Amino acid sequence: MQIADYIRAIPDYPKPGIIFRDITPLLADGAAFRQTINTLAERYRDQGVTKIVGIEARGFIFATALAYAMGVGFVPLRKPGKLPRKIVSQAYALEYGEDTLELHAEDITADDRIVVIDDLLATGGTILAAVEMLTKQQATIIECAFVITLSDLPGAQRLEQAAIPYYTLCSF
Ligand code: IMP
Repeated sequence: MQIADYIRAIPDYPKPGIIFRDITPLLADGAAFRQTINTLAERYRDQGVTKIVGIEARGFIFATALAYAMGVGFVPLRKPGKLPRKIVSQAYALEYGEDTLELHAEDITADDRIVVIDDLLATGGTILAAVEMLTKQQATIIECAFVITLSDLPGAQRLEQAAIPYYTLCSF
């Protein structure tokens, strides 16, 4: 079973010229979803992982399932204004404008060994912001993992240049 076979390409969504990669067929197939999570759980077994960090919103789906499978904690990186306790935040550039990720400050510390999960790597803006914030918390980042990498965009190269370990289950 190839995970890539469960990703649907939607042309001209959300705007003309964009091919949106839709993960919902993968989630809707019990065997494919389980294989996705099991592959990641196997990869990070015996590495002293303390927390799985997921990026809002699709990253949460994979990160929570992985945390459960591994028996470790899950920590969300959220869009602004959603977390009630003391936060740290990191702004990053989008194609048009800016966005911000927020983290409950006490949820990640220097004692943590983490895997950071998002559904898809495109320009790398989101994950680089996440890594910067988590590095400021002095956590050890074991790897950043994605279900999909868009290989015609610079995300993977930017992570390699920054010497940030990364892993992807499939590429388009
Ligand atoms: P980046 O910051 O440019 O690497 O974009 C990655 C973020 O955009 C991830 O959080 C994805 O959820 C989202 N994203 C960008 N393109 C797609 C897509 O085709 N399908 C699903 N999510 C996407």
